[in-house]
Amino acid sequence: MIFNSLYERMYSVPSSQHSACTKYREKSVKEIQQLPAGSFSEWLKETRRAQLEDVGVDVPCGSCNLCCRSSYFIHIKPDEIDVLSRIPEDLLFPAPGLPEGNVLMGYNRHGCCPMLINNKCSIYDYRPLTCRIYDCRIFSAAGILAGGTEKRMINRHCQHWQFDYPETKDRDEFQAVRDAVKFVNEHADCFPDGKVPQTPSQCAMLAIKVYDIFMHALKRGESVSDGDFNRAIALRVMETYKQFEKAIEHG
Ligand code: SF4
Ligand code: SF4
Repeated sequence: MIFNSLYERMYSVPSSQHSACTKYREKSVKEIQQLPAGSFSEWLKETRRAQLEDVGVDVPCGSCNLCCRSSYFIHIKPDEIDVLSRIPEDLLFPAPGLPEGNVLMGYNRHGCCPMLINNKCSIYDYRPLTCRIYDCRIFSAAGILAGGTEKRMINRHCQHWQFDYPETKDRDEFQAVRDAVKFVNEHADCFPDGKVPQTPSQCAMLAIKVYDIFMHALKRGESVSDGDFNRAIALRVMETYKQFEKAIEHG
């Protein structure tokens, strides 16, 4: 339900500090109980649309509320008046690096959102957009962990999602998302100043936004050692990402 959209911005750190995209060990189908995640291409299209239109996504969460209990800071924008009016002011603090009025809500010592009461969101109908657009399937799609020990419950949960691949396109797009993550992980040095996404959410979302490049640029799973080629791909990744962000700004 939640998503730290603050970190969706292209925050960057030097590649030497980069540890955002830790791969998880994919268990065999026999080891885990599956949760249907839907067709991959449909999911990808909806995820991109939700980003572009700044709207919520329909995640088949069932009774799960792990993301409300996983030490996320929740970003709330200044125009979320209804949301802000329902959260006690002392739970909010200015969001670092964002214009005045943007705030964050923290979590308690157990990693729980303070608006989670009796295991339910006490402001569900008025929950922040950050919560409405959070979808942990993004980590399964990207093949990375949601985070370290504070996100361990989500990491475990994500291993249960099972996408469908009814058409070749589903498989190709899935592979392109994985290739995008792999490229960013392996070629951080090809990006300006060696800067790449800082968090798993950023890393996965970058792949969702630029996957199309990897439908054509590389052969499946190929890792290219040609530095010039990789720098050219990195440049295209940056350009495509910026275009996507511009499209979000212009609604
Ligand atoms: S962790 Fe995933 S399945 Fe659970 S509530 Fe959050 S988005 Fe839904
Ligand atoms: S506001 Fe509600 S949905 Fe969002 S993290 Fe808190 S309890 Fe969960």
